[in-house]
Amino acid sequence: MNRSRIIFRQTEGNRYTLPVLLNLLESCPMGEELQLDIAQSHEELARKIEEGIPTIVAYSFMTPHLKEVRSEVISIRSMLGPEDLLVAGGAHPTADPAGTLELGFDIVVVGEGERILPMVAEKWARGDLRGLPRVMRDEDPCPLELSIPASRRLRFMAPLEITRGCSHNCAYCLTPRIHRKPVRHRPLHSVRRYLEASHHMGKKVARFIAPDAFSYRDPSKGEELASIAELLRLCRDMGMERVHLGDFPSEVRPDRVRPEFLQLIATHCVNRKIVIGAQSGSDSLLERIHRGHTVKDVVKAVREVINWGFLAHVDMLFGLPGETPGDRMASLRLLDQLAAMGRVKIRAHVYLPLPGTPVFRMDPPKLEDSFVANLEELERRGVLDGDWKSQMEVQREILQWREKGLIKA
Ligand code: SF4
Repeated sequence: MNRSRIIFRQTEGNRYTLPVLLNLLESCPMGEELQLDIAQSHEELARKIEEGIPTIVAYSFMTPHLKEVRSEVISIRSMLGPEDLLVAGGAHPTADPAGTLELGFDIVVVGEGERILPMVAEKWARGDLRGLPRVMRDEDPCPLELSIPASRRLRFMAPLEITRGCSHNCAYCLTPRIHRKPVRHRPLHSVRRYLEASHHMGKKVARFIAPDAFSYRDPSKGEELASIAELLRLCRDMGMERVHLGDFPSEVRPDRVRPEFLQLIATHCVNRKIVIGAQSGSDSLLERIHRGHTVKDVVKAVREVINWGFLAHVDMLFGLPGETPGDRMASLRLLDQLAAMGRVKIRAHVYLPLPGTPVFRMDPPKLEDSFVANLEELERRGVLDGDWKSQMEVQREILQWREKGLIKA
């Protein structure tokens, strides 16, 4: 087979996705013949393309990275030969397939790519792409156990996704929109397979990905507490020395925090921090964005987390479309209340407009100078951190791309 190479462009935003796809490609029928590679920079990718070997170049990216991806695609498009294929997948291409095709991609994979990418690779390797649509989507829910984020060949692992999709419907969030299918949980036998792979690669750290860690449920158990207890016991039995849950990338919702869960984490995990998504101190705004919890839930959850000896890391989101100065004042009051509780750190975020969400075409409010000064003061006091300032810039850029028609969704 003379067409047998796939290069993934690795970025900060897709390092958890690539090992999942590599694992699938390594184990697909033509896996032995496939040459799988990763480029960690544009320059590295360009060097590899210049080798002249027919290649699929695959990008997986999110909206904030659109500018870099666009300029890279413009640059490498001219280097690609007629046999090469440029494929895009991930959150942004899913939300805006038409805009992504216009960037210069040959094929856009919408939604879950686990079954599509090996199929495209096989057809391309046989030199027969006839009949393949340029926008491809898998209509059936992909079972999580189909793959684990572990590439034996490249010795590349990532945290394990234990839950995909979300039963909530927060207006600014893409998760329930990308995975429009029922919420799926990974069975424990698949977790065991991942831990075995970790063991073989000499890794003793286990981290998990979930939109809400305390909602994880092994499909055969049907109950969260028993499932999480089993998950953590499994980690211990498989020799994991450092297990994280309830910390990035498996944060928790405030309305799900219960002492029983915290007790499990305190017993089995090394993280002494629990990340809680609060987002706003205004009940009215929480309701308008369909968060499904109240400010009281946040305060109660933070108190519980502190009582168990954890640091409460509270995510707050500012500048949502429809957020009023009064909502922001309510958030500042909540920040003061939380800061006074001790062992609390606020992680501040500024709203990023994401295509595919119902609020994408709405304009976010400008944050008042006095409000920004309040956040800066909390930062100086060591109570608040986060990338909120750089996100203000990213927000401006996304709005410009939206106005210029670079994003079509
Ligand atoms: S709970 Fe989290 S993952 Fe679910 S919709 Fe809301 S922000 Fe998204």
